[in-house]
Order: sequence, then structure tokens, then C-alpha cells
Amino acid sequence: MEKIVLPDIKDLHLIDVYVKHGGYTAAKKAFGQSPDDIIDQVKKSGLRGRGGAAFSAGLKWSFMPKTTDKPKYLCVNGDESEPGSFKDRQIFEFNPHQMIEGAVIASYAIGAKIAYVYIRGEYHKWIKLLQKAIDDAYAHGYLGEKMKEKFGTDFYCDMYIHKGAGAYICGEESALMNSIEGKRGYPRVKPPFPPQNGLWGNPTTINNVETITNVPPIINKGWAWFANIGEPKHPGTILFGVSGHVNKPGVYELPTGTLLTDIIYKYAGGVPGNKKILCVIPGGSSMPPLRGEQLKGVKMDAESLKAAGSAIGTGGIMVMDEDTDLLKVLARIAKFYHHESCGQCTPCREGTGWMERILKRIIRGDGSSKDLDLLISVANNIEGNTICALGEAAAWPVKYMVQRFRDYFEERVNKEVILPVPNKVHSMRKTAFPLAEIKN
Ligand code: SF4
Repeated sequence: MEKIVLPDIKDLHLIDVYVKHGGYTAAKKAFGQSPDDIIDQVKKSGLRGRGGAAFSAGLKWSFMPKTTDKPKYLCVNGDESEPGSFKDRQIFEFNPHQMIEGAVIASYAIGAKIAYVYIRGEYHKWIKLLQKAIDDAYAHGYLGEKMKEKFGTDFYCDMYIHKGAGAYICGEESALMNSIEGKRGYPRVKPPFPPQNGLWGNPTTINNVETITNVPPIINKGWAWFANIGEPKHPGTILFGVSGHVNKPGVYELPTGTLLTDIIYKYAGGVPGNKKILCVIPGGSSMPPLRGEQLKGVKMDAESLKAAGSAIGTGGIMVMDEDTDLLKVLARIAKFYHHESCGQCTPCREGTGWMERILKRIIRGDGSSKDLDLLISVANNIEGNTICALGEAAAWPVKYMVQRFRDYFEERVNKEVILPVPNKVHSMRKTAFPLAEIKN
């Protein structure tokens, strides 16, 4: 199987090796065509965003205004903060020049002179690796003014890394732009959308790292070649990051439409101890989970997963075996989204905390069946009522996990919980129960 984004070429991260294997020839080819031709080819290739929404990349580029005096920008989104997602960093480490070349082509197509690569702040290692690749590209004339001489073109563009400060919400495109502008990472109300009102009020396109990295092979080999790989409505390959209870966790580049069970059993080596699968979240922690019995025949592409009741998201597949405590998993997910809510919208700000508290109450043994209905009700009241998609990201795992594993959760809320009896008095307190201290 041909790999598009992470080909098996030793030392491909080095500029000499990348150039030796045809690197930067796609940019040269692109500069011989009009920006509209490039957009048309990317549209026809069927390339869809790999950052979560699976929106057509070419269509997104076509939204950029053609006649404007304003500066235009490209943002490459490498924030990658979704639990279960760890594939963009593989590109920074193993094939950074293909991403840089893709960003150069995208910048040419949309008319941007500056491309920002937004990387999550905790990715210290990968920030250094990408900066080295950018420096090498400048030194060799693949970025900056030297491009004019290198490619014999009037076009050139610059590229800068912008480090995030550790907020998940800055992966949301409008929060990402606010963050680059030096503001608090608050998502903006849309419309207006980034092509009309992006960075500093100027036309901006935001694409995920993996999406952009697909562009050079599309230009070099043609849109029809790409469109014929994988599923026709969502062609190409995806970097599937497999984590959890599998023997060989890791990132696997496979054609769209690969069976989820093949990814788990054939590529990721199956479940340790041959245990049964209880649950799989197929696209990062915000996507609706699937029951183990639901997995047969499920293909990994946007349309098939939608039909199966979930979504492709970032392609981060989280596998949980039959011994997993789903209640604790869900409480941990809820805690994450509560922590990461920026607090602008009441349903998200209050609802995420509420869901976390209910789940903790159930874990303590103080829950009831009514709490399960309450969880679904809170989730329903968040979904669709917020400025950005973090609302859905927080609501979906709770709503769908409780709905799809109702039997499991009913058993948990009705189980008698035996709390451990402390056999030692904590040295800092007279009794094991702080309430008693207060009363005294
Ligand atoms: Fe902020 Fe949540 Fe509203 Fe998004 S949905 S803007 S994260 S409060």
C-alpha cells in the first residue's frame, strides 16, 4: 500500500533526502499553473480536512476572496490537543518538508504571503524539529525571497511557527487566530468566517497539518490518482493513531475505508490477552463511542462512520477492553472538557462542570438512574447551543456513551458501593471525616 503522508523513506526529514526523492518539485509544477488551477485540482482530488470536520480542502481554499487589497494568510493547525490524537507530530518529525511544501503550494493558491504553523506548546521536541526544517528550507531557497530565484517566479512566502500555551480550545480555528494575534484564545462567533474576517480582520485559510501534507503528491501525481485511493467520497489515506488496549499502539497510514477491525487486529496486533472489546472511540475523545458488538463491518471514512453513528474526527482510535471501567473513562473525559472550556457560553461553561460532578457522584456510589437521564439532558442542552464545537465535543461522549451503554451504567448506579473503612487516622486530622471536625 502506497503511503502518501509518511512514506517509508529513511531520513526523509533531512532536506537533501527529501529533495533527492522529488521534494519541492510539486511547488515548481504549481508555480507553472494559475492559483485557480491548483484550487481546482485539490477540489477534484476530493481531499478532505484531516483535523476533525472532514471538509473539502479545495472548496475551503476557493472561499478566499480573489480581489482584495488586504493581506491574506494561511494557518497550518498543528495544535493537536485532542486526547487520543498524536499523528501530526509524526509529520513534524518524519516528513516536515512535505508539510512545508504543501503550505507553500496552498499559500500560492490562496494568495497568502505568510503561513503560520500553530503548534501545541507542549510539543517542545517537534517545535525544534520543525524549526530546523523551516531554517533549512529558507537556506535552500524553498521559503522566503530566495524562492523567486530558486523557482523563477514572482511569488514567495514566509513561514513562522506560533507556539500555543497549552489550551485545547486554541485548536478551534477562530481561537487559534485570536491566539496568534496575541489575544486570549476565545473562539469567535461565526459568521463572519475566516476567509472574510480572519487574522487581524484579513482573509485567512486554516488547514490541518496532515491535510496540507497531502497537497504536494496531489499536484505531482494528479488529482485523479488521489481520488482513486480509498473511499470515493473521502479519498486518500489517513494517519490512524491507535491507542488503548492494543498490542501495538501507534500511527498507521492506511487508505480511507479500511475496516476498523482490521486496524485493531491486523495492524495494531489485537487486544492483549485476547480480551473482548467493550468500547472504541474512533476519532479522538470527542467523537461518539461505539460498542464492541457494533464494530463489525465499520469502515474508517467520514461517510461510513457517520452511518455507524460516529465520526472520523482526527482518526485517533481509542480501544477499551472488557475490563475497562467506562464510568471512570467518561468522568475523565468530562473533566478534560470542563477544564478546557473557555467559559464564554453558559451551556458549555456550566454544563461541562455539571456533567463532571454527576459522574463523580455516580462513582462515589451516590448516583441513581435519574442521573443517567440528567446527564443526557445536560448534554442535549449543550449541543448546538454554543459558540464553538467544544460544546459538542463535551456533550457527545457523555450523551452517546450513556445511551449506548445504558445497561452498563444502570448496573453501576444500582450497585451497592462499599466504601473502604479507614483503619488509620490520618496524621493531619483527628478523625477520618472532615465533616466531624467541622461539627466539633
Ligand atoms: Fe468557549 Fe465552550 Fe463556548 Fe467554545 S463552546 S466558546 S469553549 S464556552
